Amino acid sequence: MDFAWSDEDLAFQAELESFLDRELPPFVDEWEAGNGEGDDAPSRGVMGVMDKRAAWQRKLNEGRWAAILWPEEHGGRGATVSQNVIYTQVMARYRTPGTYNANGIVQIGPSIIAWGTEEQKARWLPGILDATEHWCQGFSEPQAGSDLANLRTTAVLSGDGTHYVVNGQKVWTSSAQIAKWGLFLFRTDPTAIERGRKHEGITAFVVDLETPGIDIRPIREITGDSMFCEVFFDDAKIPVGDRLGDESMGWIVSMGALGQERVGSSGQAISMAQDLRALLQTAKSVNPAALEDPAIRDRVARLHTQIEFTRLLLMRALSKVLNGEKGWPEVPLAKLQWGSISLWLAELAVDVLGPAGVLAKGAPGAVDGGVWARNYVWQRYTTIGAGPTEVQKNIIADRALKLER
Ligand SMILES: Cc1cc2nc3c(=O)[nH]c(=O)nc-3n(C[C@H](O)[C@H](O)[C@H](O)COP(=O)(O)OP(=O)(O)OC[C@H]3O[C@@H](n4cnc5c(N)ncnc54)[C@H](O)[C@@H]3O)c2cc1C
Repeated sequence: MDFAWSDEDLAFQAELESFLDRELPPFVDEWEAGNGEGDDAPSRGVMGVMDKRAAWQRKLNEGRWAAILWPEEHGGRGATVSQNVIYTQVMARYRTPGTYNANGIVQIGPSIIAWGTEEQKARWLPGILDATEHWCQGFSEPQAGSDLANLRTTAVLSGDGTHYVVNGQKVWTSSAQIAKWGLFLFRTDPTAIERGRKHEGITAFVVDLETPGIDIRPIREITGDSMFCEVFFDDAKIPVGDRLGDESMGWIVSMGALGQERVGSSGQAISMAQDLRALLQTAKSVNPAALEDPAIRDRVARLHTQIEFTRLLLMRALSKVLNGEKGWPEVPLAKLQWGSISLWLAELAVDVLGPAGVLAKGAPGAVDGGVWARNYVWQRYTTIGAGPTEVQKNIIADRALKLER
């Protein structure tokens, strides 16, 4: 590793910290007193959290801190890679409420900036940034997840060339039930799969989810919440002007969007270290005997070491990127690490907190309002979302270790 934060980076960090020192405490006090954490919030589940995130994103946007990687002309700061690392670390350290339009800011906005017309940028970017419109991402289908290029929802150009007619189904579309817009991939050339060229003939569209012919059905998860949905298209008409990029460029447009997602974030190391400390604090008060168990102590030590190791892995990736190389294979290795570490942490929590630690949200006596029990079932997603573990391992075996197939 070979880098130090520049004076500009340190000034960036100081400006962000002073914004958060000024804005975050009153925001949290006001929210807890007035809305989100009141009696109504738990019953609203994920939606209560989203309201809070929308209000916080608006606050961030007022200070131009919502989408720091976007160019200044579109309301961002044109931040560098190092500044983005500083940003994720500082936001994690301050335990900020999270972002309402995470998909829109991290993945979809940059795709619109890269591929959209000036008219499209003016139409869509402001609503992503100021949280007035929620955005989702509709790529996966029942037979197209890891193998995304197998997608089969069709978009057929109408005879008069004004719109596409869309038929098919998407699945796992996060927060589609509250989204106004989504970035979707459809097949405009259905012959591509038969021709053995399935990455071709895919086109990206921005879809207004209020369009007739679109049916959004939330999926109830093991947590009891409904975070993601099935989205059905039955002769839904999407205007030609809402296509992002040319026909058959969808794969490139989507790879750009997912590339943003896979860069990874060292802020996670800070969040996880904080979660581990918080867990141990809680265990000390509700089930102190568990912390005397040598097997538990060993797991705590391993977790601590793995979190720190992963933080350093990402720092090494950053060092490479700053020296003009790719963050490879550190970034996919870090993704694998997060998948395992978050599961170990979730499993440690239910083992260390005793019987009350597995009581769910709303149960009398549930530790920390049932947050650890929820986490235990929810955290399985880290081994699937943004690239499943097995697929990541295949990529590393193939391209980094160059193992024989
Ligand atoms: C919390 C969450 C939110 C999501 N949000 C969205 C969203 O907003 N929009 C969206 O489009 N999608 C979303 N997804 C879907 C996600 O992108 C897919 O779940 C993911 O791509 C995996 O696809 P799949 O579920 O079809 O599983 P599959 O691809 O069917 O995989 C099933 C299993 O087989 C393994 N497997 C697959 N291929 C291989 C292989 N070649 N070699 C070895 N093992 C393999 C996988 O690792 C996995 O264990 C979300 C998923 C989760 C968990």
